[in-house]
Amino acid sequence: MTVKLHAIRVGVVEMDRSVFLPATPKGVRIDAPGLVFVIQHPQGNVVVDTGIDPQVYADPVTYWGGLARALVPKGDEGDGLLPRLEEAGFSPDDVKLVVNTHLHMDHAGCNRFLPRATFLVHRAEMEIAPEMEGNGYYRSDWDYPLSYRQVDGETDLFDDGLVKLVPLPGHTPGSMGLVLKMSGGVVVLSGDSCPLADNLAGRIVARTDKDPENSLRSMEWLAARQQEGASVIFGHDNGQWPVLPAEFTLS
Ligand SMILES: [Zn+2]
Repeated sequence: MTVKLHAIRVGVVEMDRSVFLPATPKGVRIDAPGLVFVIQHPQGNVVVDTGIDPQVYADPVTYWGGLARALVPKGDEGDGLLPRLEEAGFSPDDVKLVVNTHLHMDHAGCNRFLPRATFLVHRAEMEIAPEMEGNGYYRSDWDYPLSYRQVDGETDLFDDGLVKLVPLPGHTPGSMGLVLKMSGGVVVLSGDSCPLADNLAGRIVARTDKDPENSLRSMEWLAARQQEGASVIFGHDNGQWPVLPAEFTLS
C-alpha cells in the first residue's frame, strides 16, 4: 500500500524576501507560491491547505486590510481551489479529509468550497484564529459550518503510518506539518514552519513567526528528517517548485 502526492500551485503572494529572511535588503521582491497538496490514499483523498480565496485577488485590501500592501496576492478566479483541483483531475466530492496546516489566509481561503469534507485543524489554531481576526486570520476564510475536527499532538490519519500530522509550532501556535511514506521515500510537507529552503539551511526564523524558539525547534526537527533522507517540501519556495522530485505529479 502506498500514497501518491500531487502538488498544486494556487496563486502567488508577491512580497519582500526579508519577510522570510530578515537579513535580505529591503526591496528584494519574491513570488511566494500558494501550495495545495492532494494525497491519494487507498482510504480516500486528503487535501492539504486550500489556498487563497479567489475573491481576494480583485480587491485584496477589502479582505486583508493593510496586510495586502506588504503581501500582494496575485492571481484570478482560475487560481481558486476548485479550478485547480479540477485541472489535476479531482472533484470536491473526491475529497474526504482536509488538513489546514494552519488557518492563515493563504492556507484556509477556500475551505468553504469543500463542504462535505472533514477538516483537521490543530486545537491551538482553532483557539487563536478568532483572537487574531484581521492579522492573517479572517473569519471569511474559515468560519463556516464545516465539519472541523480538532487535533492535538501527532496524528496518524489512517492508522497505517502512511500519512501523519506532526505539530510544528512557531509560525503559529497550531502549525502542523505532514510526514508521508511514499514508495520513493519519505516526504515531509513543512507548511509554514519553514517557508523557504534557505530558512532551514541557515536556521533563520522568518519575521512572520510568532514564537522564534518554537520555530527553531521545529526547524531542527525538519533538519533531522532531512538528514534521515526525507525530502522536505517548504511552505512557499518558488525555487523548489520546478525541481520537486519526479515521482510527484505536478499540476
Ligand atoms: Zn503561508
